[in-house]
Amino acid sequence: MRRLVFATFAVLAMSAVAPMFASQPAPVAVTPITYRVTFPEPEHHWMQVEMTVAGLGATPFKARMSRSSPGRYAVHEFSKNVFSVEAFNGKGTKLASTRPDIDSWQVANHDGTVRIVYKIFGDTPDGTYMGVDTSHARMNMPAAFMWAQGIEARPIKISFAPPQGLNWKIATQLFTTSEPWTFTAPNLQYFMDSFTELADLVISEFTVQNTDGTPVKIRLAAHSDGAQADVDELAKLVQPMVREHMAVFGEFPKYESGNYTFILDYVQWGDGDGMEHRNSTAVSSPGLSLKTPQGRSQALGTISHEYFHNWNVERIRPAGLEPFDFTRENTTCCPWLAEGFTQYYGDLLLRRAGLSPRVPVNYAVGVINGAGRQVRSAVQMSEHAPFADAGVSIDANDRARTFISYYTYGAAIALGLDLSLRELSNGKITLDDFMKLMWKDFGKPGGSAPGLVARPYTLRDLRAELTTLTGNKKFADDFFDKYVEGRDVVDYARLFKLAGYELRGSNKGGWAGSVAVQTVGGGLLVGMSGGRGGGPVTKTPTAFNSPIYKAGVDFGDIIASIDGQPATMDSWAALSTKPAGTSVKLGITRRGGLAATGTLVLEADPALTVVDVAAAGGSLTEAQKAFRDAWLGTKAK
Ligand SMILES: [Zn+2]
Repeated sequence: MRRLVFATFAVLAMSAVAPMFASQPAPVAVTPITYRVTFPEPEHHWMQVEMTVAGLGATPFKARMSRSSPGRYAVHEFSKNVFSVEAFNGKGTKLASTRPDIDSWQVANHDGTVRIVYKIFGDTPDGTYMGVDTSHARMNMPAAFMWAQGIEARPIKISFAPPQGLNWKIATQLFTTSEPWTFTAPNLQYFMDSFTELADLVISEFTVQNTDGTPVKIRLAAHSDGAQADVDELAKLVQPMVREHMAVFGEFPKYESGNYTFILDYVQWGDGDGMEHRNSTAVSSPGLSLKTPQGRSQALGTISHEYFHNWNVERIRPAGLEPFDFTRENTTCCPWLAEGFTQYYGDLLLRRAGLSPRVPVNYAVGVINGAGRQVRSAVQMSEHAPFADAGVSIDANDRARTFISYYTYGAAIALGLDLSLRELSNGKITLDDFMKLMWKDFGKPGGSAPGLVARPYTLRDLRAELTTLTGNKKFADDFFDKYVEGRDVVDYARLFKLAGYELRGSNKGGWAGSVAVQTVGGGLLVGMSGGRGGGPVTKTPTAFNSPIYKAGVDFGDIIASIDGQPATMDSWAALSTKPAGTSVKLGITRRGGLAATGTLVLEADPALTVVDVAAAGGSLTEAQKAFRDAWLGTKAK
C-alpha cells in the first residue's frame, strides 16, 4: 500500500511540471484487476493464471493475449501457448466463452465479475518469451498474461504462489506490498513492462548517489552458477559502469519501484537475450559462468547496453512505441537511435569505466560496405524492423542485400555524429551533450503515470534538437539529410584521423562480390546453403551492383564454366589472385536448365579495417592523445 500512495503522489507531482497533462482527471479509485499465478507441475513447463475482473457492468468482457511486446518489433502471437481456458462469474458459476479472434476470449452474461483461469506453456526463458521448470519461472509479461481489453488504465494486483521446497525468490520491478508474494502495477502499460523471474536467485545490491544527492539503489538478481561472492564481484564491476552511464545524461532517472534491477539468467537451457524495461532489465546468456572473471566480464556487454536503455527508449521514447499497442506490430522511425546509439554507448561506457579495451569504431565498416545501403536509409532499415527482428515468416527474403541491422547502422551514425560534433566544436560539444538535451526535453518530463511517457520524440524533433545543440541548422540538416534519412555515409576516414585511427583498404584485387559457391553436378551452385538432412535452405541473393550481380548471376544459378574451362572450387578461388579489372567469361546454367553466359569484371576488394595507429606501432600526436582522452576517458566523478 505504501508504494501505491507514493505512486499517486508522484502522478500529481509530475502533472504539475507537465502542463499538457494537468487537465487530466486525477486517478479514480477502481477495483484492481487481480492475477493469481500458480505452478502445480513446473516439471511439465506450464503455469496456471487466474485473472479476476470486477465492476464490469453488463457489457461482454474480452480478455486477450498480446501479439507483440515492447523491445521486440515482430508479432509473436503469444496466445499460441495458452490452453484449458475457463471462465466463471462472481459466484463461481462456469460461463461460456467465444473466440472473436485467435488472441481473444469473450465472455457475455456475467454478473459484473469474470474470473478467467488458463494454463500456459513456456520453455524459452529469455527476455521475450517465458519458461517454466523446476529451476525457475521466467516471464516476459506480454508472453504470459491475458489482459482486459478496454480497461487498460485500471491498477493491477498480482500474487504468485511458488512451488514448495524450491527456495524461489522473486525479481521484478512491480511495486511491493506488505505481502511478500503480492505486487501491484498502476496500469497495464507498467504491468506489461514488469518482467518477472522466480528462482533460487542470488541478490547483490549497491547504492549510488544521484546528482541531487538522493540515493539510487541498484540490484542484481542472478539465476546462475554464481555464489553470493561471485554476484557481488559482478556488482563491483557494474557499479563504475552505472556511474559512467549517469555521467552521459547528468542524472539517474527516478526509478518508480524504488530501485533498478538487473534480472540475470545464465542457465544452460536458456536463450540469449537482453530486454530493457523502465526500472529493470532481463538479461540471459545460456551457460555464462559468473564464477570466473572472464564470465563476469563477458556479462557486462549486454548489461551495459540494457542499462543505457533505461534512459534511451524507456524514457526518451520514439513516437510509435508510446503508448505501446499490444495488439499489433509497433513501427517507429528510430530504432537506429533507440538501439544503435545504445549499442554505441554500451561499448563506449565500458571503455570509459575501464572495464573493456574495446572502442566502438568497427560499426562504421559494416555500414560503409553494407549492401543494403544501396536501397534503404537508416530510417527505412528501422521501419523494416518488424520483418527483421525475429520475424517468423518462412518464405525467402532478400535481406542479405537490402538490409543492415539498425543496431550496426545506428551505432555507426552515433560514432559519426560524436566525432563530427567534436570536430565541429573543437571538442566543446559531444554526443553526450545531445543525449543530455534529449533527456531534458523528452525523458525527464516523465508521464501522467508510471509506465507512460508524455512526450515521445519524432524524427523532426531529433533534427531540431541537433540544431538547438549546435546552433547550426545547416550542419543538422546536412547530417540528417545525408546520413539518417539519406543513404550516404559519414566521412569516417577523415574523422578517425582526429583520434589516431585509420580506415585501411585491403589492397586486394580479384573481388567477384560477397558470394558463396559450392560444388554440385554441373559446376558451382551460387548462394544456397543448408537444405541437406531436412534443414531449411538459405538463399542469399547477390548484392546489387556487385561484380557477380552485374555478370547476371544470382542464387540458384550454377556457374558451369570459367573462361571456357569447367568451373571448380580451385578455378573460382584463383579469381582472387587476378588484378582488379580482369574480365572473365562465365558459362551459367539457370534453374530449369537454360544455358546463359555472363561477363564477370573483377573489382578491387572493398574490405576495410580500422587500425589503431598506436596499437599498430605508430605514435599519436598530442592533439590525437587529447582527443582520445576526451572521448574515451572517464566522465564519472
Ligand atoms: Zn537494445
